[in-house]
Amino acid sequence: MNKSLLIQPNRLLRNLYPKAVWNLSRKEKTIYLTFDDGPIPELTEWILDELAKHKATATFFCVGQNIVKNKPVFERMVREGHQVANHTVTHIKGFKHSVAEYLLQANECRALVNNNLFRPPYGRMKRAQYKALLKQGFKIVMWDVITYDYENISPEACAHKAVKHTQNGSIVLFHDNIKAEANVKYALPLFLKHFSEKGFVFKGLTL
Ligand SMILES: [Zn+2]
Repeated sequence: MNKSLLIQPNRLLRNLYPKAVWNLSRKEKTIYLTFDDGPIPELTEWILDELAKHKATATFFCVGQNIVKNKPVFERMVREGHQVANHTVTHIKGFKHSVAEYLLQANECRALVNNNLFRPPYGRMKRAQYKALLKQGFKIVMWDVITYDYENISPEACAHKAVKHTQNGSIVLFHDNIKAEANVKYALPLFLKHFSEKGFVFKGLTL
C-alpha cells in the first residue's frame, strides 16, 4: 500500500461518514492538532510541554480508561486550555461490537470529557454506529492529515509527510501512544516550529 496516497482521506472514506468533520476553514491560518489514545504519563506530558513552548492548544481524543488511570495528566490538559474529547472507554473496534455496546462506551466516555466530540478508534465504525452517534448528539471528528506516527516509518518520513500535507484548517492526527513515541518526539517539534514561523496558530476544536 502506498501510504502517501492515503495521507489525506480519499473520497470513499469521506463519503462513508459525510457528516463528520474532516477539516475546518481553508481561509484561516489555523491548524488543529489532535492526539489520540492518551492520556499517558511522560509522553502526553512531553507533548504538553512542546505545545506550551509555542503557545499552541490542541485536542486530545482520550481513551476513558486512560483518563481514569492518569487523572493528573488529564487535569493538566484541561488546566492548560486544551480540548479534551472522546475516543471510547477501551479503544473499542466498532466492527467487532454491536451498536448498543458502542453507544454505551461512547456515552461513558462522553461523561468523562463532558462534551460531544467523538473520534472512532481506528478511524472506522459501522454505518449504523455512525448514525446512532449522530442521533445522540455526538460530533464526529476525523482528520485530513494522518501522520502515520504509529506505523513503522522513519521519524524523518513522518515529519516530512505531516508538514507537506498540512494546510489552512487542517485537522492533523498524531498519537500520544507509546507505539508512536519515537516519531512524535521527532516530528512534533519540527512541525510546530515550521508552521509557527509561517504565522500559523494552533487551536483546539470548538464545534
Ligand atoms: Zn486510537
